[in-house]
Amino acid sequence: MDKISAEKHLSELNIVKINAETQCPYCHDSGWLITEEGAVACVCKRKSEIIRRKAILGITPALEKHTFANFDLRYYADYLQTDLGPSYRLLAEKSLEASKKFSRNIQKGKKPRGILFVGNVGRGKTHLAAAITNDLIDHGYGARFVVVPEFLDALRFSYQKEEIATESEIIRRVQGAPVLILDDLGAHNYSEWTKGKIFTLLNYRLNYQLPTIITTNLKPGEELDQVIGERTVSRIVEMCDLYYLFSEHDLRDKLRKLK
Ligand SMILES: [Zn+2]
Repeated sequence: MDKISAEKHLSELNIVKINAETQCPYCHDSGWLITEEGAVACVCKRKSEIIRRKAILGITPALEKHTFANFDLRYYADYLQTDLGPSYRLLAEKSLEASKKFSRNIQKGKKPRGILFVGNVGRGKTHLAAAITNDLIDHGYGARFVVVPEFLDALRFSYQKEEIATESEIIRRVQGAPVLILDDLGAHNYSEWTKGKIFTLLNYRLNYQLPTIITTNLKPGEELDQVIGERTVSRIVEMCDLYYLFSEHDLRDKLRKLK
């Protein structure tokens, strides 16, 4: 394979789907391509390295599928309006645009304000949060995706079992991430202890001006304040812009029916 076709091949990084049954058409599963400049890693090898890296950063195979390109605006009715005025479609368009802009700004070396996505279960919040994470990692930037209820459980269990990571290790891994995505904030039984942990985490992010993306089913100023506490919500409002996502149905049901 000459150099040009190797480059073309590498540029196909995002479109080649690798799975266990398919032999790679380029390297026939050797993982390497021979070019004029020597051996280079084949697209399939680079893809699997990215997937491995994503797994470490909290992106599961299900989350890996979410991109900006497959966020389907047709699921957001343009004939339905919120109490706030704009249509569901317009709110979704704005959320998508803000997500892309956030990722672009990080890649330009800026520290953009974070985003708080608010909407009921299955309205596309996690899709956009994962799409931001995927876009950043695909472009070589660090971002960590954290499912908040799992994070809080891990903290709790860190006291019960000695062999797994200690509480301070778990917190350190998350709090200093260059970009942190906190998915499903508020979906947990929040005790004073868990409220304190979330406050400390968000206060750290705010103090060090570290960009943070948050998704929640709960409205700030109402239920969210009751569940995680007003002072934590005030930190979030200080560092994040608010975006709502509404749709008529749970999009996950719709997607299931399409299959
Ligand atoms: Zn290959």
